[in-house]
Amino acid sequence: MEPSFSYWERTAFIDQADIIIIGSGLVGLSAALHLKKQQPNLKVLVLERGFLPSGASTKNAGFACFGTVSEQISAINQSSEDEAMRLVAYKWRGLQRLRENLGDKHIDYHQYGGHELFMKDEADAAKSCIEQIGHLNKLLQQAIGKPDIYAVNNAKIADSGFNNVGHAIYNTYEGQLHTGKMMRTLLYKVYNSGVLVLNGCSISSTVQEDKHISLITSQGNFKAGKVILATNAFAGQLFPELKVIPGRGQVLITKPVPGLKLKGTYHFNEGYYYFRNIDNRILFGGGRNLDYKAEETWDFGHTDTVKQKLVTYLNDVILPGQHTEIDYWWSGIMGFGDEITPIVKEVQPNIFCAVRCNGMGVAMGSLVGEEVAELALK
Ligand SMILES: Cc1cc2nc3c(=O)[nH]c(=O)nc-3n(C[C@H](O)[C@H](O)[C@H](O)COP(=O)(O)OP(=O)(O)OC[C@H]3O[C@@H](n4cnc5c(N)ncnc54)[C@H](O)[C@@H]3O)c2cc1C
Repeated sequence: MEPSFSYWERTAFIDQADIIIIGSGLVGLSAALHLKKQQPNLKVLVLERGFLPSGASTKNAGFACFGTVSEQISAINQSSEDEAMRLVAYKWRGLQRLRENLGDKHIDYHQYGGHELFMKDEADAAKSCIEQIGHLNKLLQQAIGKPDIYAVNNAKIADSGFNNVGHAIYNTYEGQLHTGKMMRTLLYKVYNSGVLVLNGCSISSTVQEDKHISLITSQGNFKAGKVILATNAFAGQLFPELKVIPGRGQVLITKPVPGLKLKGTYHFNEGYYYFRNIDNRILFGGGRNLDYKAEETWDFGHTDTVKQKLVTYLNDVILPGQHTEIDYWWSGIMGFGDEITPIVKEVQPNIFCAVRCNGMGVAMGSLVGEEVAELALK
């Protein structure tokens, strides 16, 4: 049954928006913040279907990263050197903006550095990545102004006690943060700027009316002059013409590991697997490439295939012989596509979208949100 709202609820909460943002992930909230920064009197309402943000922003691994050597090579092959370096610069600036907006202390940001690891049977891949370090360092220095970003660091392998790892490439500028604290701090900031965020409200369609847009939702109808769609992986549910393919990421966190030495962020298998330290534990995720079709889903959950592989790598490679117990399993849904850049555009008159962060939204999300806010304000 459709909810019946009081006069007070309608006038104070519901009929109050110049702009409605659909989705309270990092992109939606960053857009809200930017709108209020630019126009403090604008009435901005965020509608979120989950109890918490329910996509990727509170489910990710919290890597503050802008690409490993093999990811840079793959981006160059998929587009061009220029476009790949524009993306690196965008991610780098996005991370700086996130840190400026929220403050390192509030999000537990630490620059412990990142490593790309190559297993012993990936010697050829390691060799070809290592050969390109010099060239990439030159390109990236131009893109983000930092020298000598990547360097071989095989000594790290013995130090960390890994098994079966043959080579490691270090990136001193890679960081990590606490994803939950990031989103909570952002939410507080958004509230303080005067934005209303309502949860438990799922939008099923939008209708173009004469002077406004109606949103048909699980809580009745809302209207606004403009709408921003920040639903990332779920964009196709409302606008199938937006080519965003969902990709589920499955993640575990171990119980505390006594004497854990490992510190920093780690990637292997072309970025399909990633792990890091958090509170004396290991966070480990990935394995989407084991069965792309099964992971191309809007459903949260797990598969035995991915879980088993993650547990095997954990026990055989990362913490060999320690039989570490696992405390948490969860999954989140990312939005992918054929191109390496996000989609920020007007989808219909006065409906703007900012979607498809390609699994890199911690880095890009703050700027993607700002970009769509600017577009909506034009
Ligand atoms: C397991 C995992 C690990 C990751 N690790 C990293 C990392 O280490 N570094 C990095 O840079 N990126 C990482 N990412 C990617 C990053 O988290 C995302 O790119 C980013 O959070 C996307 O933000 P968003 O706001 O666009 O989307 P989301 O956070 O998904 O937000 C979209 C919101 O829209 C809501 N919504 C959807 N449909 C509707 C509807 N019809 N009505 C109302 N609300 C709706 C959803 O509930 C959701 O809250 C990871 C992602 C996952 C899943």
